[in-house]
Amino acid sequence: MTKLNRIVVVGASLAGLRAVQALRAADFAGDITLIGAENHAPYNRPPLSKSVLDGDGDITLPGAEQLEDGWLRNRRAAALRTADRLVVLDDGSEIAFDGLVVATGASPRRFDAQPAGVHSLRTVDDALALRTELEAAPGHVTVIGGGFIGSEVASTARRQGISVTLVDAGSHPMAATLGSNGAQWLARHHERHGVDLVSGVRALGFDGESRATAVLLSDGRRIPTDVVVAGTGVEPNTDWLRESGLKLDNGVVCTSSLFAEGESSIVAAGDVSRWSHPLYHGELVRVEHWANANEQGALAARNLLVGPAEAETYAAVPSFATHIHGARIQIAGMPALSDEEYVLLDESTEDRLVVAFSSRGVLVGAVAVNAPKDLIRLKRAIAARTSRDEAVA
Ligand SMILES: Cc1cc2nc3c(=O)[nH]c(=O)nc-3n(C[C@H](O)[C@H](O)[C@H](O)COP(=O)(O)OP(=O)(O)OC[C@H]3O[C@@H](n4cnc5c(N)ncnc54)[C@H](O)[C@@H]3O)c2cc1C
Repeated sequence: MTKLNRIVVVGASLAGLRAVQALRAADFAGDITLIGAENHAPYNRPPLSKSVLDGDGDITLPGAEQLEDGWLRNRRAAALRTADRLVVLDDGSEIAFDGLVVATGASPRRFDAQPAGVHSLRTVDDALALRTELEAAPGHVTVIGGGFIGSEVASTARRQGISVTLVDAGSHPMAATLGSNGAQWLARHHERHGVDLVSGVRALGFDGESRATAVLLSDGRRIPTDVVVAGTGVEPNTDWLRESGLKLDNGVVCTSSLFAEGESSIVAAGDVSRWSHPLYHGELVRVEHWANANEQGALAARNLLVGPAEAETYAAVPSFATHIHGARIQIAGMPALSDEEYVLLDESTEDRLVVAFSSRGVLVGAVAVNAPKDLIRLKRAIAARTSRDEAVA
């Protein structure tokens, strides 16, 4: 293990903040520089598609208030010169490191031409701009993409009494994330709450000169609208690493202990990290969940300090929870990696659903709607690599 004197953390959000806190907690005596492209102190993103749109602005992330020393805000890393151990900033200045944490997260996919009135939702500024539009009581909102963020925005807008169309390219929104039973339930749930669901078509573009007035669909339809929310997924922020020599493939490819492949002094954490997950036969996974960034930021920093030989693997069961039209939806594990799914409970009248997912006979994922105890049980079973037969018995 080499002694580190200067650690640079790129990305000043959840994973980056947790990395800095872990370094301090480990009494790291060297210099820490935190580089963040946003002007805001690190904040919580989950409320941006929920309470913030309803007017509650609390997005406090505990610990962010202690950051001032060594924090370069509103500064973007433009390149990494791996062999020279240098991060190059957007103004051409260079910052030397002997340990690096990559925590640059992800950014929304955007349409080539995104006119006024079309909103992406990743930052607090995005959320405030959308909130202003919703407060103006638009007649109609079109949400493109029925993933979590799109579904949450649809739910919030309906609660505010706004008419909503949700356009999704799949047969049902979130079929890959929730499995077919969960996705069918969600489609019915949206419709029961007054969302006009248009599945199996793509949004190709917009009508309107200075502002979008309609969404144009791949089946030739045109949806007149006042506000559009584009929730078409995210891409990991790895552009600045393009010439770095790090292995990039839908994120920074990492070992099971979060070291960038082939590197002993560079780790990656949070939405940007695609690591070899010990629970899933070492398969590379990238997870866009709060808990993942929260835990990985801290572990990646601790691993950086001890070096790869003594590092801990990151084997947590991914987990996610949200509320959509009042129903609590929880996911554990990776349903997307499954080859079979089993409905363990389906009480449509109560809006309760529990589905287990297995791969090669082993439990790998679970989805629960309004059934938190079942989810806890299944999450433990996933962590213990329980066989499908035992889990669904
Ligand atoms: C609207 C919304 C709702 C969500 N809801 C939930 C939820 O209910 N449950 C859940 O589990 N998860 C949710 N998430 C996901 C969760 O917020 C993310 O998984 C988490 O924020 C990831 O943290 P991160 O630190 O890895 O990346 P990010 O939060 O994306 O932060 C990365 C930071 O790096 C900065 N950066 C990027 N490139 C550079 C560069 N070159 N130089 C310097 N800085 C750079 C970015 O500006 C950003 O500040 C939600 C996300 C959003 C956007």
